[in-house]
Amino acid sequence: MKKVLLHICCGVCAFASIGRLKKEGFYVEGFFFNPNIHPAGEYIKRKKVAVEVSRLCNTKIIMGEYRADDWFKECRALSDECEGARRCLVCYRLRLKRTFDTCVDKEFDYFTTTLTISPHKNSEQILEIGKRLGKDKFLSLDFKKEDGFKNTMELAKKHNFYRQNYCGCVYSTKKT
Ligand code: SF4
Repeated sequence: MKKVLLHICCGVCAFASIGRLKKEGFYVEGFFFNPNIHPAGEYIKRKKVAVEVSRLCNTKIIMGEYRADDWFKECRALSDECEGARRCLVCYRLRLKRTFDTCVDKEFDYFTTTLTISPHKNSEQILEIGKRLGKDKFLSLDFKKEDGFKNTMELAKKHNFYRQNYCGCVYSTKKT
């Protein structure tokens, strides 16, 4: 069975994504790495849901470090960008690069990300970054497909999980 390291942006998005990977015959472990999330209290809430979803799905989860300063170093200069523009591309790349490095270190066959499940995000951009970084180690899956977002929201509702109303960084709270 091939092993996939799944970058988890939040537990809600992970629910249907883990299900789809398992249905396709992969062994899955999660990787929660999101230094973009602001403030720290919000990070803790999303992390808790990711842990709970992993428990319910019976999958292991690896916790990445939370170094918000590193994220700001890369993204501060792009604070005025609209959501989906250049700042987001830098943010996706930062998180996917760390996931790729962990995939290699821990000898997974592939890595991929839950980021594609959101209807607010352009999957093509995310998949392009993943392919450039990981080449054949990147599993190019669009989790929006097969009603991914609808399914994951239904599961989140059923379990009464916390659902955020902004993407994650301080700039997205201001809806730039
Ligand atoms: S809006 Fe979301 S994807 Fe874009 S930079 Fe902020 S946290 Fe990252």
